[in-house]
Amino acid sequence: MSAEAGLALARPPSTLRRRTLWSVLLLLVVAMLAMLVWLAGVYEAAQVQGRLERDAEQAAGEVQAALMRNVQSLQALQYRDPTPNSWVIDAATLLREHRELVRVEWRDSTLHLQSHVDTPYRIPVFDHMGRNNAQSEVVLTCATARRLSGPAYSSSYFVPSADGLGVQVMELCLPLQRDGKAVGYLIASYALQEVLDALPVHQTTRNYEIAFTEGDGTRLALRRSTRSGNRVFTAQQLVDLPGTSLVLRMDSWRGAPDLFPNVLTALVTAMSLALVSVLVLLAKDMRRRLKAEHDLADALAFRKAMEDSLVTGMRARDLQGHITYVNPAFCQMVGFSEEELLGHGLSAPYWPPECIDEYQQRQAIRLAGNVPPREGFESVFMRKDGSRFPVLIIEAPLIDAEGVQSGWMSAFLDISEQRRVEELSRTSQERLQATARLAMVGEMASLLSHELNQPLAAISGYAAGSINLLAEGPDGAYGSHGPAAAKEFGADLTLALQRIAEQAERAGKVIKSVHDLVRRRDQVREAVAPRVLLDAILPLIHLQARKLLVRVLTEVETDGLSVLCDRTMVEQVLLNLARNAMQAMDQPHILERVLRLRVRRVKGGGRKQWIEFSVADIGAGIAPDVQAQLFNPFFTTKAEGMGLGLSLCRTVVEQHGGALVFEPNAPRGTVFIFTLPASAVA
Ligand code: ADP
Repeated sequence: MSAEAGLALARPPSTLRRRTLWSVLLLLVVAMLAMLVWLAGVYEAAQVQGRLERDAEQAAGEVQAALMRNVQSLQALQYRDPTPNSWVIDAATLLREHRELVRVEWRDSTLHLQSHVDTPYRIPVFDHMGRNNAQSEVVLTCATARRLSGPAYSSSYFVPSADGLGVQVMELCLPLQRDGKAVGYLIASYALQEVLDALPVHQTTRNYEIAFTEGDGTRLALRRSTRSGNRVFTAQQLVDLPGTSLVLRMDSWRGAPDLFPNVLTALVTAMSLALVSVLVLLAKDMRRRLKAEHDLADALAFRKAMEDSLVTGMRARDLQGHITYVNPAFCQMVGFSEEELLGHGLSAPYWPPECIDEYQQRQAIRLAGNVPPREGFESVFMRKDGSRFPVLIIEAPLIDAEGVQSGWMSAFLDISEQRRVEELSRTSQERLQATARLAMVGEMASLLSHELNQPLAAISGYAAGSINLLAEGPDGAYGSHGPAAAKEFGADLTLALQRIAEQAERAGKVIKSVHDLVRRRDQVREAVAPRVLLDAILPLIHLQARKLLVRVLTEVETDGLSVLCDRTMVEQVLLNLARNAMQAMDQPHILERVLRLRVRRVKGGGRKQWIEFSVADIGAGIAPDVQAQLFNPFFTTKAEGMGLGLSLCRTVVEQHGGALVFEPNAPRGTVFIFTLPASAVA
């Protein structure tokens, strides 16, 4: 992801949009889940209601069947023309078997009581109120029964008892007929409560509250159940009886907890909860991601600002050597754009053509896994316009997030300016030294002139005196003649000549002392391995070579022979020649700059072995008019040259018995060659 994309992520409008989307999603999910739970609840309620309806229908049927069976049992009482006594026995048996019947009466056709039996299970129901109070019910019911020619039921009514309670009673009137004529009635009084209690208890109906109610909902009798929960489902069923009808009402109390009425609702609720939890987790995760994205965008922006402000060039390569990243400073340094550099393999466009082989070898070593020196190394790069410049490269392995090396990261410093300053200080130091040397020479010259002046002045004085003496002759000089004057004349002349000789000797001594000073260096000759000579001057040569972007090549083939020489002087010769050669290549149009220092053994005449040194450049060469005066002291073509270098070199080489020559180099440039005597094998 680019830094721009990272920044775009952090923009407020997209945050607002994302928040709105999340809110809508959350609302939808909550609404959907609420609807699911509600639907599940409704479905479950419908299931319960349906079951309750079925159970109520079944219960009503059972009540009807039980009452029908009782009618048959009651009819059975009359089958064998019972006497009142036998009837009572049978009726009592019946009452013992049917708790719901509280009283059975046998009445004649005018409804006068013949015989009756009360239930043995409770205090006779009508004792407190008196049976006659219910006479109207009985009369009405029996009228209906007569009309229907079959059993008829009264509407229920309340019969209070002595203990303040009471029983809801319903009468059954069963007309007794013989030969088609009504001969009497069997009146059976039902306790509605007992009718309910006598209902068979099923697994499903155990938890129902069952009641007989009136049309307006007033409860007449009730069979309770253990209540659990507080939600009531109700079903009502009409129990149709001849002469009346009862309403059977069933209440179902839902089991706790109400919120999870059944597995389906529980499942849906659980799934909803899980979904909401997942949503919450997702939202949290999203927030974390957003924060991470934010941080990443910040880090990217920070990195980009850092990259843009860097003056150090940065470049990353993958393990195959392809460029995968360059920073703006690097692009500016080499003059190529990022697009021109990215993806380039080994042989980058900023490699100078003459160095490609060397750099490829260096990269091969790097890609083989060799860690470069931490302090970095120096190299030469080429700008797009072809100009070369020195760089300091610091490389380090590029480690990815998994800790695996994915390439190399390099930092580049353009050290042209540094080199320029170094060179400036070096040349100014050299100039200082040269000036000091010149000053010394001047001082020596003035000392010499001073030292020589006296004897020379004396000589010239004596010589002039002598000339005068000789011109005047003995007579003119002394004003007298004779042997005495001639003797004095001769003595004076001799003295003057003696003085001249003395002064000449003194001047000779002065000159000899200088000669001795020079001669004394002869004694410091030693056998030195050519490699040692080169190693001593190479650091100085490299210093200048780096500044002038010159590659230095050395070659030594001397079969172990050493050079017999004044080491310091020969080093100076090599340095002078190398410097001249590098300066000869320091021209803008010369892009390929190579300095070749070569030492080899050559056969000379006789037994003497020679070592040949050659310093070759590929500069502009030497013009013919320059060639003629090359070794003249103080001849120079350079603005800041002194023109002493080559003449000094030749003197030194010749002092060693060797020779210094030059010839053109191929394809261009110059080779300076000098020979020095070899010493015995070291
Ligand atoms: P300086 O280097 O101070 O000029 P030198 O005596 O070393 O004095 O060189 C004299 C001149 O010879 C130089 O100014 C230069 O013109 C010429 N010269 C010396 N070496 C070379 C070379 N390798 N290629 C071309 N010209 C050279």
